[in-house]
Amino acid sequence: MNDSDRLAATSNPGACDLCRVAIPSAARLFSLVRDSSSIHPYDPDQDGGRLLTACSPDHLGELQQHYRLRPFVNEELRAGKITRALRTQPGLDEEELAQVTGLNFLQIEHTLTWESERFLEEQAPRVGREEPEGGPDTRDAPEPG
Ligand SMILES: [Zn+2]
Repeated sequence: MNDSDRLAATSNPGACDLCRVAIPSAARLFSLVRDSSSIHPYDPDQDGGRLLTACSPDHLGELQQHYRLRPFVNEELRAGKITRALRTQPGLDEEELAQVTGLNFLQIEHTLTWESERFLEEQAPRVGREEPEGGPDTRDAPEPG
């Protein structure tokens, strides 16, 4: 599956994740951190882990610090698994979705509720605020559906 429209903008293999400078392979520093927003394109065992690439110990430290401070949200991880499953195999029914994601019905339901609540929360502050059309506020959040 070549579903990289979101990743393409952010990850450039061989470049520092902080300063984006290209690094010769011998000089790359790596670190694996926990990140509930990181979903592997196909390997569920690697979900929730992000491999950082940095050009220097300083930058590696800054990146590690960033992810250390970021909350690890189980629902976010599960939502990513569900999204991946539905992207690669659209039209799964609930039972198949559970099989593919390794989640049970309760977890799936809980996750979908969490997602829609989060969606509403994101929408809420805009209600009542005068906003000229346009100005797409695109953060790197996973898109619903
Ligand atoms: Zn760097």
